[in-house]
Amino acid sequence: MSENFFDYNSTTPVCKEALEAMLPYFSECFANPSAQTSAMSLKSKAAIDRAQEEVADFIGCKSHEIVFTSGATESINWVFEEFLSLKKNVLVSEIDHDASYEKVQSAQNSLAIFFKANKLGQVDLESFKKACTRAKPKSLVNLMYAHNELGTLLNLKELISIAKEHSLFVHIDATQALGKTPFSFKNSEADFLSCSAHKFYGPKGVGTLVINSKTASLTSLIKGGGQQNNLRSGTLNTPLIVGFGAAAKLAKESLQKDMTHYESLKNLFFDQIKGLNYNLNSDNENSLKNTINITFNDWNSPSPLYLELTPFAVSQGSACSSGSGASRVLSSIGQHKLSSTIRISFGRGSKAENTTLLAKRILSLLSK
Ligand code: PLP
Repeated sequence: MSENFFDYNSTTPVCKEALEAMLPYFSECFANPSAQTSAMSLKSKAAIDRAQEEVADFIGCKSHEIVFTSGATESINWVFEEFLSLKKNVLVSEIDHDASYEKVQSAQNSLAIFFKANKLGQVDLESFKKACTRAKPKSLVNLMYAHNELGTLLNLKELISIAKEHSLFVHIDATQALGKTPFSFKNSEADFLSCSAHKFYGPKGVGTLVINSKTASLTSLIKGGGQQNNLRSGTLNTPLIVGFGAAAKLAKESLQKDMTHYESLKNLFFDQIKGLNYNLNSDNENSLKNTINITFNDWNSPSPLYLELTPFAVSQGSACSSGSGASRVLSSIGQHKLSSTIRISFGRGSKAENTTLLAKRILSLLSK
């Protein structure tokens, strides 16, 4: 069933390692990790601590900088809310993920500052510098390292150094980058980072907000029993956090292998569609190896190409947004041929045979 799935940027299956690690914590070792009243709760606590170290090692930060959340959407909303409530600006790209874009839109005040992207999905430097100049000091810049629809990877070093020249804080939305391209939070010199485990073979409903302990702090949004150093209250979800840790460990170990696999499938796909008239909607030189966003210029049917490709599961845009979200990104970068645009995203389970079949199906639809 999954061999024709080419939509791994929307989500990934839980890997064997994460599933096996999680299972005991659903019913055998169910005690509350914060209780410290039984051997079982101490075991749960030790499992949480281990997961925190595995996640920190994967992201390149310190384990005490990790706060577990329900995923990137919550993490992004939390950090943005802090700046908005302090009446600081939040700077986002016009092509950022809805989790960021809609959060600042909903602020409905003048605190949101948008900057533009070029047709490859790279930040328009002039627009970015203007936005940084307009922002109040100590405002927040959002940088989505890897674009979920286009695959474009931003030049973080250059953008963060511009933001820092203007005394701004930087939040990296690394949700699509982690597990698909090398990254280190420490080396980035950013202040915050968000991600979700389900994008790299961990379970859904768990992620983290990383808070740089040297440069940043945050007030809690979710109040209650004071778990996670009073930063996010609520009983810790031991199985999901353990699964997150195991997936992170594996993603770190298999990064090079995964990237080589994705690159070979990407090259194979391009070899197969040689001769077709297409445009790539990404910066191919600086892009996730698993992602292709492509417009077939000779597809003139009103029916979206991605629907005609069934049973191959490719997408038109982001799974997290409605149709309007997809067109916001593409129209922002000047690509208006929505129905002839598809996003293919490879995963560990993608195979050369099925990639060839997908390419052949596209060739046959376009030759009709
Ligand atoms: N940011 C990016 C770049 C994403 O791709 C996604 C999900 O696709 C999110 C944030 C939100 O992640 P989640 O739905 O797991 O909260």
